[in-house]
Amino acid sequence: MTELLTGQLRLMASRHPDEIGYRNLDAGTDLSFARWEAESNRLARGLAGAGVAKGDRVSIYLPSEEVLNWVVAYAAIHKAGAVAVPTNTRLSARETSTILGHAEALAAITCASHLPTLLTARRRVPTLGLVVSTDGTAGSEADGPVEPGAPGAVPWAAVAADDASEFQVELAPEDLADIMYTSGTTGSPKGVVVRHRNASLLPNGEPHWSGTAWLHGSPLFTFAGISFVYNPMKLGKSAFFLPRFDAGRWLEVVAGERPEAAFIVPAMAQLIIAHPEFQTADLSSLQLCSLGSAPVSAAVLRRLQERMPDATISNGYGMTEAGPAFCAMPKDEAWKRAGSVGKPMPPMEVRITNEEDDGLRADAVGEVLIRLPGRQREYYRDADATARTWTDGWLHTGDLGRLDEDGYLYIVGRTKEVIIRGGNNIYATDVENALLEHPAVLEAAVVGVPHEVLGEDLAAFLVTAPGRALDVEELRAFLLSRLADYKVPRRVAFLDQLPRNATGKVLKHELAPPRWTPSTR
Ligand code: AMP
Repeated sequence: MTELLTGQLRLMASRHPDEIGYRNLDAGTDLSFARWEAESNRLARGLAGAGVAKGDRVSIYLPSEEVLNWVVAYAAIHKAGAVAVPTNTRLSARETSTILGHAEALAAITCASHLPTLLTARRRVPTLGLVVSTDGTAGSEADGPVEPGAPGAVPWAAVAADDASEFQVELAPEDLADIMYTSGTTGSPKGVVVRHRNASLLPNGEPHWSGTAWLHGSPLFTFAGISFVYNPMKLGKSAFFLPRFDAGRWLEVVAGERPEAAFIVPAMAQLIIAHPEFQTADLSSLQLCSLGSAPVSAAVLRRLQERMPDATISNGYGMTEAGPAFCAMPKDEAWKRAGSVGKPMPPMEVRITNEEDDGLRADAVGEVLIRLPGRQREYYRDADATARTWTDGWLHTGDLGRLDEDGYLYIVGRTKEVIIRGGNNIYATDVENALLEHPAVLEAAVVGVPHEVLGEDLAAFLVTAPGRALDVEELRAFLLSRLADYKVPRRVAFLDQLPRNATGKVLKHELAPPRWTPSTR
């Protein structure tokens, strides 16, 4: 078997053709391993026939409801030898064009609901030729009729070849598999390069088929989501996907579908715990409930553990740049080490550094540095950012943490300015840049403020230009035309000036919650 991601799918299709690879729980549709393999062979052959060559970047611009097409497209892109660019479907056309422009995407796969945004974005991405639409819609641009002769989209069915037999452009483990964009949608985009050899935590292999499932609902363009394309099958499980999260529905699905494992982000966990059915729902099938993507409070972990005493409740720490680096927490240690994300699994190494100390002292808080020999990642087309972020193989995570005396890692905060709102990463500078485009905004600072359900919410502190009044609703509309909706601050406060240090940097920690006005909603 090859080390390529697609090698695992091919194996599953030959050993377990009729088992369910992916299930869309909202649509009630399933994808067997045989169909996943055949459909991806057909699309790969078609993409190659349409000119997609080894190393070309292909965006997957499909929302969660299109999960079955998403995973087929993902395998097809790799079979065609191309590089997948899993693209956030909640971004504005402008943000999308920044990312696809940076990736120099040559093709994109989308669907009717997202075609207008993509065609609008395409006007600023000169490389983007082929647009494939899953449902056969040719489409038109959101903000105006398509010019005569302007290319629209080609239906998936017209691109896919009839021949469903095995298709794989020759690739080496070193070749690029994906570019995962993590930030900088209006500033400088950061695309993490994923190679076939450092894509997954689990190696390809022949699993014992368990007949059970791993339930999740993370969008597949995220680091957490994409790890649920191949990992469930490597563990002998189907992946059950819930495109729209709702706590009541999640409890119903666990009781009805009886998955053996589930992944949730902390914001979902809080909604589940607060749901009236939480105490009585049948959660007995779950042997593992894993959480991650954002800080998880010890209280949430405790509530879940009390309700599911026999299950392993795990707090998984990861980041796109760290890739397959992984910490593990033995079940009997979890109670003793509340809040820890576990112990680094060799060959992963963790070092904590701060100004006074290069780390080795137990319990000293500092920046978390991670090293994973031979499986290090890098940024796409950004040698400077790569050199800043990885030194001597050590990844500077931007997270603050400590190691206890037994080597268990605790994440305590972040040195970098990323706000995680309901599992979505938002970079303050992106929002500030958009705010500063408004003519009445003189200065802007965006900070994260605690939010009961979302974990964090955004607050914007503004200084208006002299003599200019600013209508908050009008400002929101202005931002919505530039940013994804979840990046638009709901809390806005006006100040005479921003607190700054001697060198002019805004002192964000002085922008304390009491200074902001109530929500504008
Ligand atoms: P991403 O690359 O989008 O997965 O975001 C990675 C960032 O999410 C990390 O650098 C952390 O700041 C945060 N993060 C992920 N998992 C956890 C966790 N279990 N506890 C605390 N922070 C986390």
